[in-house]
Amino acid sequence: MSDCIFCKIISGEIPSATVYENDECKVILDRFPSNKGHVLILPKEHVANIFEIDPALAGRLFTLAAKIAPVMKDTFRFENMNVLQNNGPVAGQTVSHFHIHLIPRYENDGVNVSWKQLDLTDSEIEEIRKSLTDNLNL
Ligand code: 5GP
Ligand code: ZN
Repeated sequence: MSDCIFCKIISGEIPSATVYENDECKVILDRFPSNKGHVLILPKEHVANIFEIDPALAGRLFTLAAKIAPVMKDTFRFENMNVLQNNGPVAGQTVSHFHIHLIPRYENDGVNVSWKQLDLTDSEIEEIRKSLTDNLNL
C-alpha cells in the first residue's frame, strides 16, 4: 500500500527503531509512545485489521507478543502491561495496517486505556450470547 506509513517503514522508505524482524513481521518502537518502551508488532504484508488478517498469522504475531513482553518487563523493569490492538477509526486505529501495541505500565503514568461499563440485565446478556454463539462455526 503506497500511502501506508507502516508499509513505508517495512520497505525502509521511512526509518524506524527496529527491535526484531523476520520474514513475515517487524517489531518497532512506537515513534510517539504512550510510555517509554511502547512497542508495535506489524505483519510485513499489508493487512488492514483483525477482520482481514489470516488468523494463523495473527496467532504467530500474538505468540511473538507473548515472547517479547517478558523480555520488555525484565529490560525496562515494569510489572504491568497493556496489549492493545485497535481496528477501525471508531476503535482508535489511526494507522490502517494491523498492529499489536505492547505498552509498559507504571504507577501513576497517566496512560488511559478505559471504558465505561454498561449495566445490562441477565436476559440482555443471554440474548447477546445466543446471537453470537448461533453464528460461530469454529
Ligand atoms: P493506532 O492508533 O493505529 O492503534 O496506532 C498507531 C501507532 O503508530 C500510534 O501509537 C502512533 O504513535 C504510531 N506511529 C504513527 N506514525 C509512526 C511512525 O512514523 N513511526 C512509528 N514508529 N510509529 C508511528
Ligand atoms: Zn501497510
